[in-house]
Amino acid sequence: MKRKRRRTLSDGGRRLSSEREGTRRGRVPVLISACLIGLPTRFDGGGRLRAELLESLAGEWLVPVCPEQLGGLPTPRAAQDIFPGGPGAGSPAPADAPGSAGGEEVLDGSARVVNRDGVDVTEAFVRGARSVAELAERLGARRAYLAARSPSCAAASYGVGARLSGVAAAALARSGVEVIDVE
Ligand code: SF4
Repeated sequence: MKRKRRRTLSDGGRRLSSEREGTRRGRVPVLISACLIGLPTRFDGGGRLRAELLESLAGEWLVPVCPEQLGGLPTPRAAQDIFPGGPGAGSPAPADAPGSAGGEEVLDGSARVVNRDGVDVTEAFVRGARSVAELAERLGARRAYLAARSPSCAAASYGVGARLSGVAAAALARSGVEVIDVE
């Protein structure tokens, strides 16, 4: 008889079975940027519904996530961009183009996220990215459809040259989750 793979996660002393938590009737959850299913999570309070994508994913167990909201940022909120220089480096220099660094550098502490009001929101971005990566781990998700060009969700479509990843996309990729960019 085929032996089932069983993995357990520890949560504050409580033992969770990822086999039980992570699958429903054999389906594996798939993460998706909340705005892509039309939820009003974007910085401007709008959504970014991608009906064709949802049709193509019919039958999948979709788990919507918004890393910026999970990090504690309000909606609506000022638009944000990633700049070189670690947290607390102050306002971006005039020579710093928005998007001249990406999520990888933010996770490594060599870049920061600053909103259009000049407020450093790096901590919230990192908190949200880690929450999403932890959620993927707890649920056993191995794939994520993420909104393109976002400083959080972009999977290699953010910033100068549109080649960088957002902070949450970078955290998920580091956890071994396949990240798929959705325009
Ligand atoms: S792109 Fe990501 S962070 Fe931005 S609203 Fe959509 S889900 Fe939230």
